[in-house]
Amino acid sequence: MQLRGDREGSRVDKPNLKDMTLKEIEGFISDLGKEKYRAKQVMKWMYQSGAASFDDMTNISKDFRTGLSALAKISSLEIVKIQTSRDGTKKALFKLNDGNFIESVLIPGKNHWTLCVSTQVGCRMGCRFCFTGKCDFKRDLLPSEITDQITMLRFNTPYGKDIKNIVIMGMGEPLENYDNTLKAIRIITADCGLAISNRRITLSTCGIVPAIRRLGEDASVNLAVSLNAPDNETRNFLMPINKKYPLEALIDACLKYPMPRRRRLTFEYVLIEGVNASLKDAVSLAGLLRGLRCKLNLIPFNEYPESEFRAPAQTDIEAFRDVLIKHNYTAVIRAGRGGDILAACGQLSGRGNRTGEDNV
Ligand code: SAH
Ligand code: SF4
Repeated sequence: MQLRGDREGSRVDKPNLKDMTLKEIEGFISDLGKEKYRAKQVMKWMYQSGAASFDDMTNISKDFRTGLSALAKISSLEIVKIQTSRDGTKKALFKLNDGNFIESVLIPGKNHWTLCVSTQVGCRMGCRFCFTGKCDFKRDLLPSEITDQITMLRFNTPYGKDIKNIVIMGMGEPLENYDNTLKAIRIITADCGLAISNRRITLSTCGIVPAIRRLGEDASVNLAVSLNAPDNETRNFLMPINKKYPLEALIDACLKYPMPRRRRLTFEYVLIEGVNASLKDAVSLAGLLRGLRCKLNLIPFNEYPESEFRAPAQTDIEAFRDVLIKHNYTAVIRAGRGGDILAACGQLSGRGNRTGEDNV
């Protein structure tokens, strides 16, 4: 079975079944005068057997397959390389059909992997501390390009079948590419799709308030918000989006985000020396989040070529965390994983740096 490349022809006018949800494939198939249940069969072939062409779908009649391939295509991303960091984190570089590159990061757990997927080539949000934000924005990813980061690894690497958690926090701002990201979530969670439950998916946003509200209505994934500052002045300096949606509006949207009992919001807070990491900042942060069911991920600033900031000293990072704990928050220091291969938060660029072991 061939798993890479676009064998269904490169005619761009053919719709790609991997850009469609189950409902949309059902509609497409009904329009061809065929039974709806075949949509599920096709989905299972693509996402649960790794089929990259209609020829692979052997329990579907030849006639129907021929009919489908005349009218639709199935795309695949190309895995260019996978690097492994000293701490076991892996970074996959993918080539898109138009020649652009994106990266995903695999984070090892005890018996499973967490995959961090990208939603855009670059990012338009321009956060001051983020490498992705400093690279040129090229375009949004299609639903197929978001889900294929999972599908391709699942069927082409020995550990891919153990990807159990998905974090949508790679390159790009997912809520800026709302429709395609939502479609990807529908495909990831579908029983006949990648069959990963909502509970195991976390979407991270810089805080696009109206889209947070929409997401709460459209899906029930976990929400992570990149906060990074306890007050508007500091946040305006670090994250231009704050000028449009200041902290008051953001916190209000977080309070209203619908969450089943026992689930909590996550706030990410990149600690930057001399900018947002003083004990006074920690106290303000504790006040800002009062009343929110949440946990805090403290991420010491990860450096990259020509970065203007530094992480605070370890003792200062721990003191910051301790203030939050004293105020009854769950706060965890997330040591930068995969830093030696530029796979840590905020270091993704789609350029595929040269260091690190190159192996699938
Ligand atoms: N755009 C989304 C998701 C991608 S960024 C968002 O902003 O949430 C993923 C995380 O990386 C964010 O929490 C961001 O604050 C963090 N990050 C960005 N640059 C970083 C850096 N240099 N060091 C540590 N974390 C960084
Ligand atoms: Fe974009 Fe997130 Fe980086 Fe900000 S932190 S530039 S929103 S990827």
